[in-house]
Amino acid sequence: MAEWSNWSGRVRAEPGAIVPADRETTVIRAVREAAKAGQRVRVVGAAHSHSPLVPTEGVLLDLADFTGIVGVDRESGVARIRPGTRIADLGPPLRAEGAALLNQGDIDRQAIAGAIATGTHGTGTTLRNLSSGLIGARIVLSDGSVAECAADREPELFEAARLNLGGLGVLTELSLAVRPAYRLQEKIWLEQVDAVLERIDSLTGATRHFEFFWMPGSDRAACKSLAETDADPVYPLAEEGKRLAWSDEVLANHRPDKHSEMEYSVPREEGPACFRALREMLHRDFPDLAWPLEYRTLAADETWLSTAYQRETVTLSVHQGIDQPDGPLFRACETIFRAHAGRPHWGKVHFCTGDELARLHPRWKDWWRVRDTWDPDRRFLNPHLERLRPAPA
Ligand SMILES: Cc1cc2nc3c(=O)[nH]c(=O)nc-3n(C[C@H](O)[C@H](O)[C@H](O)COP(=O)(O)OP(=O)(O)OC[C@H]3O[C@@H](n4cnc5c(N)ncnc54)[C@H](O)[C@@H]3O)c2cc1C
Repeated sequence: MAEWSNWSGRVRAEPGAIVPADRETTVIRAVREAAKAGQRVRVVGAAHSHSPLVPTEGVLLDLADFTGIVGVDRESGVARIRPGTRIADLGPPLRAEGAALLNQGDIDRQAIAGAIATGTHGTGTTLRNLSSGLIGARIVLSDGSVAECAADREPELFEAARLNLGGLGVLTELSLAVRPAYRLQEKIWLEQVDAVLERIDSLTGATRHFEFFWMPGSDRAACKSLAETDADPVYPLAEEGKRLAWSDEVLANHRPDKHSEMEYSVPREEGPACFRALREMLHRDFPDLAWPLEYRTLAADETWLSTAYQRETVTLSVHQGIDQPDGPLFRACETIFRAHAGRPHWGKVHFCTGDELARLHPRWKDWWRVRDTWDPDRRFLNPHLERLRPAPA
């Protein structure tokens, strides 16, 4: 028995074995051996998920050394990337090829396959999550065979793989959309939060990226915008809020304080009302909360399990320190998110059942149908995912 815990230490597991794999043949062998022994298989990326997606009593495949860029085709705007590559390790080599990721989240510590598996996103009304940038993948399936998928090749497997929750198989190579390398100028400022909400559409539309953080108890928001620029990068890099550099150097932030997090995506037009409802509830019921609420935007997409599936989106995240109880806080927030048609972030805390998810996600049952077709022995499921299975029709 081995021991495993996630980034915050809140999610723990005792897998039968943790098996490192630095190449596809090792993954295939491990999956075949697990199948022979009747064991389940899960994969861990960088262990940054707050939801119990990784824990298994079976075999936990660790792809931390399965890294690197296989190739970049600038003409078609596609980079082929090995699954364990940290997002932080993509910036410089992509830039050397004149390319960059379309967007990134708050941090760059995640493995690319782990980030894709949960719909990791940044902010920007014209920008989609990382999963929507997946345009092809190689997947080791439950019998150890390898499938290649893309929009025109095993299209249903591909749609399910874009945001896959680790439940389809092991992604061993990802083809990801990239764009020409670009520079960003970062700006932060404080503003009355009600004034921000009143002009939220012009703020979110004014620059490529806009978000704000609001600290409970405060009447002001810390606003942050990132605008594309042709200006030369300034080194050494300035502190967060003042950077002018290549996109990967500006998009990533340092977030060392251990916390747990709940995040929901609501329809764009519900964002301000949902924020106000959360603010009122937090003032009343959790006046001592010392962690910020984060407000971001996402473009609509077509990725089956994306929280922005076919709707322009606002994401709202609530945080709690790991030394504090988070259950009552998150349950109170979730009641409000649900009242605003919220869909939970797959990699963060939520208390939804499979049937609730089926009501929130038009393609949830399709995802399970495809998953069960390609993994009939349920090799790649774990207790958390089993709990999220929708009831049969
Ligand atoms: C400090 C912090 C900041 C964060 N900021 C953001 C943010 O800005 N935006 C956002 O959207 N999220 C954010 N998150 C959430 C995080 O991006 C997601 O939970 C992400 O999935 C974590 O990636 P990981 O590499 O750690 O994956 P893990 O947590 O290790 O795994 C996530 C899932 O990926 C699966 N997986 C991993 N590799 C493979 C593979 N090769 N094949 C198949 N499945 C695989 C795992 O089985 C699991 O189901 C943040 C989390 C933390 C702790």
